[in-house]
Amino acid sequence: MPKFVYDFTEGNKDLKDLLGGKGANLAEMTNLGLPVPPGFTITAEACRHYLEHGNPPEGLADEVNRHLAALESAMGKKLGQSDDPLLVSVRSGAKFSMPGMMETVLNVGLNDESVLGLAAQSGDERFAWDSYRRLIQMFGKTVLDVDGDLFEDAVEDVKRARGSDDDADLTAEDFKALVDRFKAIVREKAGRDFPTDPREQMDLAVEAVFGSWNAPRAVLYRRQERIPVDLGTAVNICAMVFGNLGMDSGTGVAFTRDPASGQQGVYGDYLQNAQGEDVVAGIRNTVPLTELERIDKASYDRLLEIMETLENHYRDMCDIEFTIERGKLWMLQTRVGKRTAAAAFRIACQLLDQGLIDADEIARRVTGGQLAQLMFPRFASRLDDVQKLTKGMNASPGAAVGKAVFSTERAVELAGRGEDVILVRRETNPDDLAGMVAAKGVLTSRGGKTSHAAVVARGMGKTCVCGAEELDVDVKGGQFTAPGGVTVNEGDVISIDGTSGDVYLGEVPVENSPVVQYFEGELSVEDGGDLVKAVHRVMEHADARAALKVRANSDNPEDSARARRFGAAGIGLCRTEHMFLGDRRQLVEQLILAEDEAGRKAALDALEPLQRQDFEGIFAAMDGLPVTIRLIDPPLHEFLPDLTELSVRVALAGGKADAKDRRLLEAVNRLHEQNPMLGLRGVRLGLVIPGLFGMQVRAIAEAAAARRSAGGDPRPEIMIPLVGAVQELEAVRDEARAILADVRTATGVDVPALIGTMIELPRAALTAGQIAEAAEFFSFGTNDLTQTTWGFSRDDVEAAFFSRYLDLGIFGVSPFETLDRDGVGRLVRIAVEEGRRVRPDLHLGICGEHGGDPDSVHFCHDVGLDYVSCSPFRVPVARLEAGRAAI
Ligand code: ADP
Ligand code: MG
Ligand code: MG
Repeated sequence: MPKFVYDFTEGNKDLKDLLGGKGANLAEMTNLGLPVPPGFTITAEACRHYLEHGNPPEGLADEVNRHLAALESAMGKKLGQSDDPLLVSVRSGAKFSMPGMMETVLNVGLNDESVLGLAAQSGDERFAWDSYRRLIQMFGKTVLDVDGDLFEDAVEDVKRARGSDDDADLTAEDFKALVDRFKAIVREKAGRDFPTDPREQMDLAVEAVFGSWNAPRAVLYRRQERIPVDLGTAVNICAMVFGNLGMDSGTGVAFTRDPASGQQGVYGDYLQNAQGEDVVAGIRNTVPLTELERIDKASYDRLLEIMETLENHYRDMCDIEFTIERGKLWMLQTRVGKRTAAAAFRIACQLLDQGLIDADEIARRVTGGQLAQLMFPRFASRLDDVQKLTKGMNASPGAAVGKAVFSTERAVELAGRGEDVILVRRETNPDDLAGMVAAKGVLTSRGGKTSHAAVVARGMGKTCVCGAEELDVDVKGGQFTAPGGVTVNEGDVISIDGTSGDVYLGEVPVENSPVVQYFEGELSVEDGGDLVKAVHRVMEHADARAALKVRANSDNPEDSARARRFGAAGIGLCRTEHMFLGDRRQLVEQLILAEDEAGRKAALDALEPLQRQDFEGIFAAMDGLPVTIRLIDPPLHEFLPDLTELSVRVALAGGKADAKDRRLLEAVNRLHEQNPMLGLRGVRLGLVIPGLFGMQVRAIAEAAAARRSAGGDPRPEIMIPLVGAVQELEAVRDEARAILADVRTATGVDVPALIGTMIELPRAALTAGQIAEAAEFFSFGTNDLTQTTWGFSRDDVEAAFFSRYLDLGIFGVSPFETLDRDGVGRLVRIAVEEGRRVRPDLHLGICGEHGGDPDSVHFCHDVGLDYVSCSPFRVPVARLEAGRAAI
């Protein structure tokens, strides 16, 4: 039978799967000899059993008994013992940190008798009754599902009666009265009495923590953060230490470096005479951690020493929770801290310079997603006309503009209509998660850099300004007022700068971030500051290690030039259909309406020089680098007027309808398809409309010849879309070869062009061995391959039912976003293997949106593709991930 319970002395930081992050790190700190209150951890495996069967696994109770007995003998007192109670916290803690998402119950073990024992032992009656009411409150809310507001309201009532707005003014008598009130609330709302048996309290709390894994907000958070749904949470039982034993006690949180900038120093918040959650909840105003030096120098020095020990041990920035009980410092939690994208790059390079990590490790310490965040635009530096409302704390960087909304419901509603919103709250709590996801940015008037809003926003990479204390936020009234009496109502546009903390009225213009300016070549590494330097160092190392090349999807010279500046090694997908739009639509219409060979030829002849110019520009921008050009793919009716509109026009005109319109309507009707994505498109078009592909191939060949004659070095690759059978490819290839030879003879210039195909139909993947006989390269078109493998119409399913599928856990992320390794990925593997078997030098790449998705880039590396191709702006992200995949 598996072991379900580990003492803190038995675990270590690498057992996160089993003990969760919190438990594994409590064990690690215990073993480092740091002052951690003793305790033990119930494994996530036990939780999974509970979630699956509705009851704890057999044998768990025995194991818990043994570990509890050991804890009791270590502490010299029994759980809830009436004259001197051992109290414990029951804390959730999953493998991945989910701040505030799941539950924790403090002070377990108190009842009407032991509260007296606690009062006697501590000599502090007020403390004892405060602890007791906290237990009933947390237990009621978490374990018995009582609405937490009822308790809060009761506390507010007592404060009001006292004429105070601070918990600190409440007396032992007040808390004693609250205990009675809370018990009555529990009895009324939960239909049962608050359990007085300490062990029953503990067991119920453990089960509640297990169950909190599936709380709606936890489910939503996991989806957002792509945390698997079935991990479960571990539960930590930890002897209580008390920060609420007077002014020589307190509780706090700290980072070993600034999580926003990466700067070294003392960052954190401290609250005297308080217990755990008071800090994060933002209900009382904390003081900066540096103040602790004045309040309790010995504990402060010890804390700094421990922070250094932790940094050196974890070789990374850590965040910690600590409590001081009457001058004695206790460590309650640590983990490698969440940080902003900029801090991640800076810290990685600082640690490299400190000799704590090596160069490979700096690439592991950052992600493509973080780099993407650093490429977000920011507010223009010249802000002459805009009105600054206030400045709060720069909690999570970025520039966000949107309409102010004051509730999660409104945020979700307006965002659902495609509007940009900024969620404005006094402080956020875990129930605001959906609103934070929907909003462009988050603004709060209370709480520090470790408040809920700040931590969660940083985790999501969402712009956040917190603790803007000058703002008076009236959530119910749907407005806030700023200094000077400016009132902002729901729907008014505001702009928030998460990098500086500034809040503006109205829409502030945005500009390129320094990192983008660096990639653009507008900002040198020397002038770019330490962030640009860090990005530069990481990118250099990633490029040196990458096996995959990164190309760009681009169909015009400007994008191609930018892609090249961003480090693209060529173009992996140049779509030609964009070249048929605008003024050229008419020529396409002519082509389709042509009644004979001559008419068709005339239309094609008119299109050809236009296409040639397009290609010449792109070849020039990508001189010396490969340019993969895909021949026209979408169904032709996409270039014709809309069927309904045209029908109406013709019908309205009656007998007087223009002859051309009537012919057009006939053609549109003829070309109309029920399932255009499965219809006349790609290679099928090339085979059905004579001369169409030929015209494109000629334009490519002539453009290349012209560039070559002008001293350029064009490297065209011709790509045939939607091939399902080698016979299709052969037919097109033979025609293309003939045209290439033709142009060679006519111009006297020889520009070799590879001819290859997209693999975007399951049949193509399954017959890749045959297709490779006729193809010099494959490019996996994983958008279509995902549609055709799953039978999902990309244009329809996402809106129709993907959110339900995500809810049900059928997939953790849309297969259009991250390549489905098991299904679509298997087809890719088959095609790679069979293709290379037939043609060992077959060149392999992927175009399609997945080429810029970090996870999918790793897949492409694993299956041994030669390159990925993505949008120009994603090129640096893909380069970084290509390097990371190889490390
Ligand atoms: P979260 O994961 O939401 O941070 P925690 O399990 O860390 O939840 O606990 C919530 C709060 O209670 C934290 O501030 C923590 O430091 C405090 N806390 C947890 N266990 C103890 C304990 N044994 N003694 C004192 N405070 C505790
Ligand atoms: Mg915690
Ligand atoms: Mg396609």
